[in-house]
Order: sequence, then structure tokens, then C-alpha cells
Amino acid sequence: MHARGFGRIAALALAVAAPLGAGLATAPVAAAAETTTVYYSSAGAPDYLEQIDQGAANWNAAVSDVKLEKNDSDATVVFHEIDSGGSYTNTDGHGNGDIYLDTSQVGEGFDPTRIAAHELGHNLGLPDHYDGPCTELMSGHGPGTSCTNATPDADESAKVQQLWENGFRVEGARVTAVY
Ligand SMILES: [Zn+2]
Repeated sequence: MHARGFGRIAALALAVAAPLGAGLATAPVAAAAETTTVYYSSAGAPDYLEQIDQGAANWNAAVSDVKLEKNDSDATVVFHEIDSGGSYTNTDGHGNGDIYLDTSQVGEGFDPTRIAAHELGHNLGLPDHYDGPCTELMSGHGPGTSCTNATPDADESAKVQQLWENGFRVEGARVTAVY
């Protein structure tokens, strides 16, 4: 159904079926839609297992070119739990990163599902936009503790679709982004 890990389904099988020398003009125009699967681990954040899964499920419901799947042993996005300093992620924005969920920030009233989904958004390539409304996931802490929206809006979903449309699974330089 979907590619595993770094694997990508190519159109090779179709391409080689074309007669030798037929040229690009007769080759299949487009491969079937491809999905890149990014594995995440939540074992390091035992207090937020359900919230992390829900945040990932919200992304999976919003986009189809990339899929988040829990897999502790093959994870390239790894959740951790910390007790101060604020939630953040260190990621290359290409499906590789560490996510740190801060229990004290949750204690202040910030919604852990929204935090998890927001940090996943960074790992899928989105930047912060703190001035945005609660309907935006990447507005993060901006709208305050009353904001519990953990679902990307249409623009955020479209951006992630665009980024992953032709594969986005390269290893890049990691940067830190906070909730
Ligand atoms: Zn952020």
C-alpha cells in the first residue's frame, strides 16, 4: 500500500514495459500517487502516547503524500518528555528529528495534542507562524492556552502536500523550533 521507511515506489515496472527506443513520449506520463511513510516513536514520552497518536492521525487525515506511522525501532522522528523549558523540536524538516514535550507547559494549560501535532508539523517541513489564529497549527503558543486545535488548516495541509509530492525524504541540517 505504501512505501516503507526510506523506500519509494517507482514507476520502473511501467517504464521498462515500453518498447526499447520508444522514447519518453510514450512512457507513462505520471506514476501513481506516492506516499512516503515517516516512522515516529512515542515511547520516550509515556505520558502523551494517546495525544501523540492523535496528532499524527490528524496529519494523516489531512495529507496523503506523507504518512506518519508509529514504529519504535525504525523511527526517524523520536518523541521525548522533559519537565521544563518549553516544548520544542530539533529537526531537518524532512522527517528526521527529535521532539521534546514539556510537562510543565502542559501543566500551564497548553494542549498536549496540539503541541505534538505542531512539532510534527515542523518535522514535515513547516515553519512557525505565531501570529496566526488558533485554526493554524503552526501558530503554536500564539493563540494562548484556550486554543486546543490540533489539526492543520487547509493552507498548512496544502503546503505539506506540496513539499512531499515528489518525495522530500532527504537528510538535511537540523534546526531547533519551539512550540
Ligand atoms: Zn514551533
